[in-house]
Amino acid sequence: MKAFQYVTAQSVDSARDWLGPRASYLAGGNDLLARMKEYLADPDLLVNVKSIPGLADIEPGDGHWTLGAQVTIARIEQDPQIRKLFPALHEAAAEVGSLQIRNVATLGGNLAQHSRCWYYRHRDVVCLKKKGPTCFARLGENKFHSLFTGNPCISTVVSNLSIALAALGAVVLVQQGKQTVRWSIADLYAKAWDNPIAHHSLAHGDLILKVEIPVEPGRSAYGQISEKGAFDWALVSCAAAAVFDDGRVKQARIVLGAVAPVPYQVEAANDLLKGKKIDEPLAARAADRLLAGAEPLEHNGYKIPMARALIQRTLLKLMG
Ligand SMILES: Cc1cc2nc3c(=O)[nH]c(=O)nc-3n(C[C@H](O)[C@H](O)[C@H](O)COP(=O)(O)OP(=O)(O)OC[C@H]3O[C@@H](n4cnc5c(N)ncnc54)[C@H](O)[C@@H]3O)c2cc1C
Ligand code: SF4
Repeated sequence: MKAFQYVTAQSVDSARDWLGPRASYLAGGNDLLARMKEYLADPDLLVNVKSIPGLADIEPGDGHWTLGAQVTIARIEQDPQIRKLFPALHEAAAEVGSLQIRNVATLGGNLAQHSRCWYYRHRDVVCLKKKGPTCFARLGENKFHSLFTGNPCISTVVSNLSIALAALGAVVLVQQGKQTVRWSIADLYAKAWDNPIAHHSLAHGDLILKVEIPVEPGRSAYGQISEKGAFDWALVSCAAAAVFDDGRVKQARIVLGAVAPVPYQVEAANDLLKGKKIDEPLAARAADRLLAGAEPLEHNGYKIPMARALIQRTLLKLMG
């Protein structure tokens, strides 16, 4: 690892003031320090953002809950009210890595982490995402890669929390220059759909402050399938949230993870559920709509039946 300097920011303004072109924000360090050890990142200065007052708070509310970017994933997993009100978020948090990782990893770091593509993570491979000439996964080892993408890079979004938060209709507060902007989860990842170099829509210096989750009188669920039973990344994940009126869906969001560079949604699948009771045939039709545009590669076609089963399972979980 290259030598670097380290400062602790005491306010949002000071964090931004410290963040020159060769500096990086440091939260739990799970992703950033690993990239530095592998020489994938070589900042001259780390700006610790964990001590900024107010950013590690969980604020309950009747209309929405606000989670600071520095709240750890373990706290999200263990909060009994979050488990009751936002089961999808609880379940997504509980599936992140190991308890040791969840104890230090933060909400903001989870949303802003970089691709896990094994070519990207190899320091000697300069692929398209590192401004190299080509994507090596397209014709190479692509079993963990995307079924859907809007650009030549086929790495997938890896944040579990982003999938659940997208289903819950969360809003992300991002400090951009002197203003605070409010982004949907779709906004937070939109650039990764179009741009092979982007992991998300954050520009250098943008700081995630908080995430607001609306309290809706409905139910939510999350599930994932991994190669190992625990401490493993998702091969496919799915989150769903719905508000019901007399047993029929009033509004719904279904989101897939690990199949695209963004939390993947299809409005026609959400619309299909409206006004209906969720049962197995309807869940199967919703899965068909979500997966209609899939473009499997040589080694990742197995994700399609896996995703179909997971969508159905997650939707049926909403019925209790
Ligand atoms: C072995 C292992 C297994 C894992 N498994 C999973 C898994 O199954 N699912 C999953 O979702 N994650 C998984 N993770 C990822 C883990 O959850 C993330 O590494 C972690 O959430 C990153 O959070 P952090 O606080 O450590 O971020 P850091 O490593 O400190 O930061 C990550 C990136 O985000 C930036 N950043 C941090 N905070 C902010 C902010 N507030 N605003 C803007 N940018 C910011 C940093 O500059 C850096 O680029 C795993 C990690 C490991 C090491
Ligand atoms: S999928 Fe993306 S990150 Fe992986 S090799 Fe291709 S361009 Fe690089």
